[in-house]
Amino acid sequence: PGTGKLFVGGNWKMNCSKKQAEEVIGFLKSGKLSDNAEIVVSPPAPYLEYVKARLPANVGIAAQNCYKEEKGAFTGEISPAMIKDVGAEWVILGHSERRAIFHEDDALIGQKVKHALSAGLKVIACIGETLQEREANKTEEVVFRQMKAIGDNISDWDKVVVAYEPVWAIGTGKTATPEQAQEVHVKLRAFIKSNFQKDVRIIYGGSVTGKNAKELASQRDVDGFLVGGASLKQEFVDIINARQ
Ligand code: PEP
Repeated sequence: PGTGKLFVGGNWKMNCSKKQAEEVIGFLKSGKLSDNAEIVVSPPAPYLEYVKARLPANVGIAAQNCYKEEKGAFTGEISPAMIKDVGAEWVILGHSERRAIFHEDDALIGQKVKHALSAGLKVIACIGETLQEREANKTEEVVFRQMKAIGDNISDWDKVVVAYEPVWAIGTGKTATPEQAQEVHVKLRAFIKSNFQKDVRIIYGGSVTGKNAKELASQRDVDGFLVGGASLKQEFVDIINARQ
C-alpha cells in the first residue's frame, strides 16, 4: 500500500462528444504519463469503442455501470459481456450517483459485482458516506456495510479496486483532507483483512485536482484516485503523475 503503482481512474460521467473525447485523448497522448501509474478512463457507454480505438494501449477503459445479467429483456441496460466485446476491461459499480439518483442498493450492487467478475471484467467498486452520515459519526458503519455487501460477492480480489468516495466530496470542490482519507482507508483495509483475509487496492475519490493530488498520493494507504471533473481537463495528467 502506498508504494505500488498509482491507480488513476477518470470518470467522465454523462459528459462526452466525439470532439470532447478527442480533446482528452489529445492531452493523454501528448502529456508524459508516469510509468508508475495504472490509468483507466471511463467514457459514457456509446463512446467506449471510439475512445478505446484512439487511446494509447496502456490506458485501460471502463464502463460506468452494467447490469447483473448477460442479456435479455432489460431495455436500456448494458451487460458485462457487451462491455468486454467492445474492448473495455473494467466497469465502475456502486458509484454514489447510481446509488442516490437511480436508487441502486447494496444488494443490487453486490449482484452486479458478482456477475461482472464472473463475466471477466475488472471492477472499480465505489463506497462512501454522505455528509449527514459523517456528521452523525456513522462513516465506519456505512462504509463497512457497503464493503461487506461488495466483498461477499468478490471471487477474485486481484480484479477489484475499491474507491472510497465520501459523497460530500464528490463534485463539490470539498476534498477530504489527506488525513481524513488515510483514516478511512486504514480502517477499510483492516476490515477487509479481518472479514475476507484479503488485500485490495483502495483509491480515493472526491474533488481530486492537479493541486491536491500529490499530498493525497503521499498517504500510506491511498493507492490512487477516482477522478470526476478533473479527468476531462489537462490537469488529469498532473494527477496521473502525482507519485512519480
Ligand atoms: C467521481 O465521479 O467519482 C468523482 C470523484 O467526482 P469529482 O472528482 O468531480 O468529485
